[in-house]
Amino acid sequence: MTEHKLQAIFLGGLGEFGMNIMALRYGDDMVVIDTGMMFPETELLGVDIVIPDISFLLENREQVRALILTHCHEDHIGAVPFLLSELNVPVYATPFTLAVLEKRLAEHDLAETAELHEVHPRETVAIGPFRIEFIHVTHSTVACVMLAITTPLGVVVHSGDFKVDPTPTDNELFDLHTIAEYGKRGVLALFSDSTNVERPGFTPSERAVRPGFEEVFAESQGRVFVSCFTSSVHRLQLAVDLAAEYNRKVAFIGRSMASISEIAHRMGYLEIPDGLLLRPHELAQARRERVAVLIAGSQGEPMSALSRAAVDSHKHVAISRGDTVVLSARIIPGNEKGIFRMVDHLFRRGAHVVYPDASPRPVHVSGHASQEEQKLILNLVKPRYFIPIHGEYRQLFRHAQLAEHLRGIPARPGASAAAAGGLEETFVLESGDVLEFDDHGARKAGRIPVGRRCIDSGSIDEVVEEMVIRDRRHLSEDGIVLPILAINRFSGKVETPPEIVTRGFAPGEPEPFVERAREIVLRTLESSSDEEKADYGVIKEKIRADLKRFINQQTARRPLILPVILEV
Ligand SMILES: [Zn+2]
Ligand SMILES: [Zn+2]
Repeated sequence: MTEHKLQAIFLGGLGEFGMNIMALRYGDDMVVIDTGMMFPETELLGVDIVIPDISFLLENREQVRALILTHCHEDHIGAVPFLLSELNVPVYATPFTLAVLEKRLAEHDLAETAELHEVHPRETVAIGPFRIEFIHVTHSTVACVMLAITTPLGVVVHSGDFKVDPTPTDNELFDLHTIAEYGKRGVLALFSDSTNVERPGFTPSERAVRPGFEEVFAESQGRVFVSCFTSSVHRLQLAVDLAAEYNRKVAFIGRSMASISEIAHRMGYLEIPDGLLLRPHELAQARRERVAVLIAGSQGEPMSALSRAAVDSHKHVAISRGDTVVLSARIIPGNEKGIFRMVDHLFRRGAHVVYPDASPRPVHVSGHASQEEQKLILNLVKPRYFIPIHGEYRQLFRHAQLAEHLRGIPARPGASAAAAGGLEETFVLESGDVLEFDDHGARKAGRIPVGRRCIDSGSIDEVVEEMVIRDRRHLSEDGIVLPILAINRFSGKVETPPEIVTRGFAPGEPEPFVERAREIVLRTLESSSDEEKADYGVIKEKIRADLKRFINQQTARRPLILPVILEV
């Protein structure tokens, strides 16, 4: 009988959207799986990203052996620079995931010191008492894996993000065989992606967007703009293929669009025929009916390339009459306002906009499994214990219900003890919960401190040490600055001089500070177009950036800056 227990420690992503991170601990050895971020919700305006509180890992730093990443999405790797800056453990992931991560690490001056290990599907690495096999799965980006982790107490399977796409565009099939093998031998616990549990049936294959895209490419007389998540490499490939077929050259616009497409191209995931590529500065001269633009900003982020192109404030491209814009991404709840404001701008400029829910043919399909695919994985893995992950509470709850049919399935002749009894228990857990396994079974075993930390990463070349952690302590030290202005909704004119209100922020000499801050805001307004001024997301972001620069220079303080716009 072993003395040791296996613990699954959920640091984020359960009962909340994004910020996926968990740890497995056996004895004194711990591995961390994914370290994602969360995009700030509107009530957190004024911060750039939200990351999980990792103080539990820091307190047990001598136990943390490695970080394992399932794929390159921000909600899985976005907070890795922050983790590595505090805890430089070896990282294991597929080459593509590592390449995307490296870019991010370089931005924080961590690329030199990070210890990155490439792994490929079907490979196994041994870390302390864990043997971790990487298993290829289909999802909305490339090089995604599920993990089968053999521990002294049995095998645990972590699904990562997946859908079961029977016809993936790159013909890299979901490795269902390997998963079934583990299921046959007996699996102690399954942790599985719950994102789309509310959707019955199967999620359509990535190929399902082709007809909708084809129609756009066939019918558009002007330029075609396609905006999707930059990591949606399959989608980028489809757009490139159609551009080639319909005799259009392709430009990649937006920093993340340029960098991820470059990585994907270099690593052979994105094929671009010779001579097809158009440099951003060549766009203005190119014949409109011969151009396709892949552009970042499908979520209406105020400073993204698409938002800027929609209000004529992008360096290389302005969208105008006759252009077609395809928003090929899910409208993430919370982003509706920004997205539809941008769509309004595009229509106003005379562009044709195709977006999900308003398009007769799908221009986007999800990368997450619907109910039938989730059941398929449950049936193949046949775990003794099932723990839904990656979802809000209702989704975890419904995913647990979905597994009920597995309870008490009859023992298979010749099955091992672990495989004999079918599902014993499901656990609907939340971030902070600890689940413990031993020879007697599994149970909830207390909680660890978790939370969210808000980060203002500022310009991309700021290093991690300079990141401002805006926790309560910080807010009480540096205070808050509220630039308040009244803008006429229809004319875009500023009706009264801006007000600057401060709380808990003490500049050396208050009077000149307020006066100068007011001038900064006025200057920002003067240098902005009427369209930008009418787009509160954009104008707030510009004011925030300019004021932040000014306050940093003046005071070396970093108050929270929250522009307030009154519509009159
Ligand atoms: Zn994902
Ligand atoms: Zn995810």
